[in-house]
Amino acid sequence: MIEIANVSKTFHQRTGGSFTALDNVSLTIQKGEFVSLLGPSGCGKSTLLNLVAGLETAESGNIHVNGKACTGPGPDRVVVFQEHALFPWLTVLDNVAFGLKQKGVGKKEREALAMEQIKSVHLSKFADRYPHELSGGMKQRAAIARALAMDPEILLMDEPFAALDEQTRLVLHKELEEIWLRTRKTILFITHNIREAVILSDRVLVMSTRPGKIKKEFLVQAARPRD
Ligand code: ADP
Ligand code: ADP
Repeated sequence: MIEIANVSKTFHQRTGGSFTALDNVSLTIQKGEFVSLLGPSGCGKSTLLNLVAGLETAESGNIHVNGKACTGPGPDRVVVFQEHALFPWLTVLDNVAFGLKQKGVGKKEREALAMEQIKSVHLSKFADRYPHELSGGMKQRAAIARALAMDPEILLMDEPFAALDEQTRLVLHKELEEIWLRTRKTILFITHNIREAVILSDRVLVMSTRPGKIKKEFLVQAARPRD
């Protein structure tokens, strides 16, 4: 489903310097798999996710999604960022419905679809609130609902729970797991929290501090039914 083959990415600074964030990385993610990418800050995790999202372009190597070369953003892939993902001037409902509006879905239908997702993340009572009226956990729930509303095949999650306190994070783990069991989306989940990676994923990839090298890879023995 996602095939990353020999991908390298070097950032060139205006001052003439350069930094290699990914050096010949290869990786395959199966349809419906929940893969966590773990590693210290600066090892290239976000760069890899942004390449899959089509927000950055690789210098060499290639990325295929469902056999199609991935050269830019597409409706099959949606990113959930750590924070600042919601438009502050829109209510939760309008935030979640935003992508559907862009797609040309009529008001009644998009609001019904958005409400369905808002309900699935337990925010029904907050649909008419603005982001600043929500707690951190609620903002991330709304961001997840917004991603789900587009019904993408792939969810790309870049440290979505890193800014939350431990208790809220545990609740969100449970909710994300429920979402995954219900929708079987393919998920690439970036974190530097080992516990989180092991709890949530089918497979954990560990990136090395050396530019973009995947150092270790292990399957998680799931404590719950997976099929
Ligand atoms: P991680 O997500 O693992 O913390 P990133 O992928 O964000 O790592 O960054 C990898 C390295 O690439 C870092 O050293 C970072 O400073 C550098 N980098 C990332 N984005 C840019 C950019 N747009 N311009 C220059 N350097 C960048
Ligand atoms: P977080 O750790 O997610 O930031 P908070 O401590 O801000 O959570 O909020 C804890 C709980 O209080 C939330 O899960 C939510 O139920 C409730 N809450 C927070 N902000 C509001 C608000 N503006 N209106 C109503 N309830 C809220």
